[in-house]
Amino acid sequence: MKICTTIRETRAACRDARQGNKRVGLVPTMGALHEGHLSLVRAARAQCDAVAVSIFVNPTQFGPQEDLARYPRSFELDREFLEKEGVDILFAPSAEEIYPKGEITWVTVEGLSDKLDGRSRPGHFRGVTTVVAKLFNIVEPDAAFFGQKDAAQAAVIRRMVRDLNFSVEIVVCPIVREPDGLAMSSRNAYLNPEERRRALALRSSLLRVEQEFHGGERNAAQLMAVAKEVFAREPQVRVDYIEIVNPDTLDPVQQIAEPTLVAVAAYVGTTRLIDNVVLNPNGGKS
Ligand code: AMP
Repeated sequence: MKICTTIRETRAACRDARQGNKRVGLVPTMGALHEGHLSLVRAARAQCDAVAVSIFVNPTQFGPQEDLARYPRSFELDREFLEKEGVDILFAPSAEEIYPKGEITWVTVEGLSDKLDGRSRPGHFRGVTTVVAKLFNIVEPDAAFFGQKDAAQAAVIRRMVRDLNFSVEIVVCPIVREPDGLAMSSRNAYLNPEERRRALALRSSLLRVEQEFHGGERNAAQLMAVAKEVFAREPQVRVDYIEIVNPDTLDPVQQIAEPTLVAVAAYVGTTRLIDNVVLNPNGGKS
């Protein structure tokens, strides 16, 4: 595995990897890797000839009061995991490499960036789309792999790719969970044992919604009420949002007639966690 810290080296390595019409896959991450990230790497391996992974804790997607300074970092372990997965290129730049002094250009997906997590975390998606656009320009991947865990992020990136004519296929991979159902997240490391137990409220609320949906309920307000009941039983968990929306526009849906995203975000202690499920009225679980 070639480890690159500069844009120049990365461009050269990706150019070499692409020789002979090879398909290059990119998996952008912030490190502190877990099985969720590795599932994206495996999907990239299966669908591409060469795999590039980026590890970059992107400062511009954190708000001033958020956890940038204490975000978990485990570079050596991450490097070992990626080596074992047969990754070809690891791009691990510094913040200065990605954001040279005086940068004033941003990529914003207007009208989507302020929904769901974007509403609770102003500027978050602007940071995400700006860094992902940079990564696309540096690596020039044929395909890029993202997790359904961050469903709003996936919608924002799909839209950016469409609107800015990036020549990259966006592949969204299923949520990987702990055995008890908690969605894997680098932020789970912040939870103490009591909070870890309480965090299951996110998954339980979504399972209840799914149960009602499979029982025939199609009204979003009713489904939302069911999710709220679950959270009411766990008052120490503070709901940030429960939303039932179109998975592409992120606009609220009243009556479920098409595949619909049910997304939740909640604070467990000071840790903000997210999870979601897609309800598909045409049959098939997602
Ligand atoms: P992060 O390092 O949190 O920025 O995540 C990097 C990528 O991994 C994003 O596309 C996430 O959606 C994806 N990811 C994170 N957690 C999971 C998970 N539990 N299952 C699937 N993908 C995930």
